[in-house]
Amino acid sequence: MDFKNFFNSISRPAAFCALLNHPDLATLHPFLSLLYSKDSPARLWADLGGDGGWDDQACSHILDDPISDVTWSLITMPLSLGGLGLTSAVTTRHAAHYGSWAASWAHIHNTFSLPDVDLSACPAPFAVGLRAAHARVEAAHTAVADSINGHPLPHVAQSIRSVPEPSDLSVAYPHAQKRFAAVVSSARWLDAYHVATVPHRAVMLSAAQQGAMFAGSAVPNPHTGHAILPMHYATYMQLHLRLPLSVLRGVTRCTCGAQLDVFGDHVLSCSKFQQLRTPWHDLVQDTVASMVRCANFHVSVDARRDRAISRAYSPNWRPDLTLLHGSEQGSHVIIDVTTTSVVAQTCLPGSARHALLASDGSAVSKRGVYGNVAPHEMLPFVVESAGALGKEAMKLFQRCRKRAENQLSPQLDEVSTWSARGFSNYFLASFSVATAKGLGHLYVAAACTLRAH
Ligand SMILES: [Zn+2]
Repeated sequence: MDFKNFFNSISRPAAFCALLNHPDLATLHPFLSLLYSKDSPARLWADLGGDGGWDDQACSHILDDPISDVTWSLITMPLSLGGLGLTSAVTTRHAAHYGSWAASWAHIHNTFSLPDVDLSACPAPFAVGLRAAHARVEAAHTAVADSINGHPLPHVAQSIRSVPEPSDLSVAYPHAQKRFAAVVSSARWLDAYHVATVPHRAVMLSAAQQGAMFAGSAVPNPHTGHAILPMHYATYMQLHLRLPLSVLRGVTRCTCGAQLDVFGDHVLSCSKFQQLRTPWHDLVQDTVASMVRCANFHVSVDARRDRAISRAYSPNWRPDLTLLHGSEQGSHVIIDVTTTSVVAQTCLPGSARHALLASDGSAVSKRGVYGNVAPHEMLPFVVESAGALGKEAMKLFQRCRKRAENQLSPQLDEVSTWSARGFSNYFLASFSVATAKGLGHLYVAAACTLRAH
């Protein structure tokens, strides 16, 4: 099999499966290495989306220990909710069934001039099936609505208001399938969140923010920079699913003397590894620069220029980037790119209750470092370890998207792939990939240091 070509032309979940079969990955976690010894990628991929060949039972055999319900839920949840996007047809079948009727019943009724039918009481088999499907979706909707006060809701669930009754289907509901699937997935998300550990809740909340998990679907085309090394990708997935990290297996103590946890939380916070976060920071910085240029801002990359130039508008600290005359008022926008952990002791348990709490904290301390830069504006561009963009970062992204009318420049449009078409998808995927690559580098390099110690 031409592995490279395969990897470059298919979607990330499929690539993930292919990677698991690659000999270079034979030393990975049992979850991956048992898959490696199994059948061909094509067979595996069919199992993932297919007729029940891939279920949690099979996953339990693949791991040393049975996987938790939370891990299984996240593997089979949409990317928009921080899952791996391997959506299970079994869990979404009722929503799909009812959604297809909600989208089409009014058209069918009108096209064939059918007599009025009361779908809430009609004894015909199709109506009985439709009501059964509705009951399942409504139950999921109630579960989401009941949890609103008890748990924070993921980004996607916030737009869900109601599920129409069968008697209301005389009006067509466009996008009903997508909306109802979101109801079911959100209910599953809340179930998983409810039983997840506190740090995993923080990861789940961050990963369910807009675009946070787009690395999971970005086609790894080398021209877009969306290619990720297998080891980095596997590490990123393990961080996300909160599985013990393969790269740290057997290492129990940090060079600072602290006990190491299997999930890598300490490595992300330890000052001994601050330097190793630089590639992550720089990948994000390069993506911000590319994004603002695409939106026709005039950008100065201050990180690479003489300090004297930026001192005039940012006396206390050298910015990473500056949008010259880029504010609404015509002053400069001083950008500082920061990466932050959502599982650091300093932000837990708050980050497990409130989305973006970790990035809010980093933004405040960055503003403190820069001080008063009036009349210019300071913009902390914070990216969380589980993928979310901080509030100011998301605002800048939205402003750029609007200026660019959601279009990529001709050069970027040329290299973008079907999985990342248009400004929005392309740059959200690029930020997500930057974090996957940056964290991959951090952990692989830290593991080398720790093993050599
Ligand atoms: Zn340490």
